[in-house]
Amino acid sequence: MSTENSSDQLFDNSVRILTDLISFKTISGEDNSSLIDYCDKILKKLGATSFKTFDNEKKRVNLFATLKAKQPSDKKPIILSGHTDVVPVSKGWSTDPFVATIKNDKLFGRGACDMKGFIACTLAFAPIYAKANLNRDIHFSYTFDEETACIGAPILIEELKKRGVKDGICIIGEPTNMKIIDAHKGCYEYTTYFEGLAGHSSAPHKGVSAVEYASRYVNKLIELREELKKRAPKDSIFDPPHSTLSIGGIFGGIAHNVIADKCHVNWETRPVVKEDGVFLNSELDKYANEILLPDMKKIFPNSSITKKIIGEVTGFDRDENSNACELVSNLTGDNTREVVSFGTEAGLFQEIGISTVVCGPGSIEQAHKIDEYIVLDELKKCLELLNGIKAKSILN
Ligand SMILES: [Zn+2]
Repeated sequence: MSTENSSDQLFDNSVRILTDLISFKTISGEDNSSLIDYCDKILKKLGATSFKTFDNEKKRVNLFATLKAKQPSDKKPIILSGHTDVVPVSKGWSTDPFVATIKNDKLFGRGACDMKGFIACTLAFAPIYAKANLNRDIHFSYTFDEETACIGAPILIEELKKRGVKDGICIIGEPTNMKIIDAHKGCYEYTTYFEGLAGHSSAPHKGVSAVEYASRYVNKLIELREELKKRAPKDSIFDPPHSTLSIGGIFGGIAHNVIADKCHVNWETRPVVKEDGVFLNSELDKYANEILLPDMKKIFPNSSITKKIIGEVTGFDRDENSNACELVSNLTGDNTREVVSFGTEAGLFQEIGISTVVCGPGSIEQAHKIDEYIVLDELKKCLELLNGIKAKSILN
């Protein structure tokens, strides 16, 4: 970025790459391998080494690529991390969601801000890192299925643990308008299935109503929600200060006069501390297994209650001495720290000892919406941050 001209070129490249990235329909749960191959190719050409990790069906892929330090030092490696999946599109877009469209100062497309914009910036900047006399490794981490409860990242994290990567600074480029986010609650989602015995409604004693047991379970959840409020940490940085719990849906039954043999409950909790999640689950499981289930089995021994984990996104805890926040503050001049209500992969990196910050281009306000866009200027700000990282990663 030494001359006006090269910084224009860099910006143009990031827009070109973002346009390519948006054209891959990487909706959560679907094959993202073409996008990953595209990224891998760019980085490999620059001399990066990389490895991939997969889901069970091998159709969804995480990429972890490294530009090695030319002058290794004791500086911590930097991980630039983004998820490659996007949320589905609903009807009503003014443009094709998978064709990047620039109007005035904005670029429209699914994933423009959440979060292909950040990935595009990192790929556009990679050639500059590759040419620089780096004295620390720079890693590029691109994951799958973040939007569906962070399914991809834990697979990558396992591999990082195996490879002994447990130290470093990670920047997760979720859209924060380049503000520093240093904490969020966890987000745990569950579906609990009840199976009883169908029968005629005129003889309730001969059946086991899955709907009724599900209702008692929901009542228990609401009761525990009050307990969670009491457990709020005194110095909580969150709003509300306590762990929350919400029932998203109850589904069961077929007719007024039939005892329902099946019912399921969708619910979630957002723990402010991990212990709340443990507390809630153990109290709930105890109630289901020791009170409800024996009762159901008295009439129908094959009755069952099954709690399925949809996803447990680890919370991201504030670290007053965070290397990652300090680095970004240093480069942007912004010393503020904020918390957000959405989940990210940050807690997963933090858990293995990597200092992590969430900071990226675009606004969460535009994420997950019809006509998602990123303000082009945000890409420029992100490129500036990446340039600052370069300055901190070469011999002075
Ligand atoms: Zn996101």
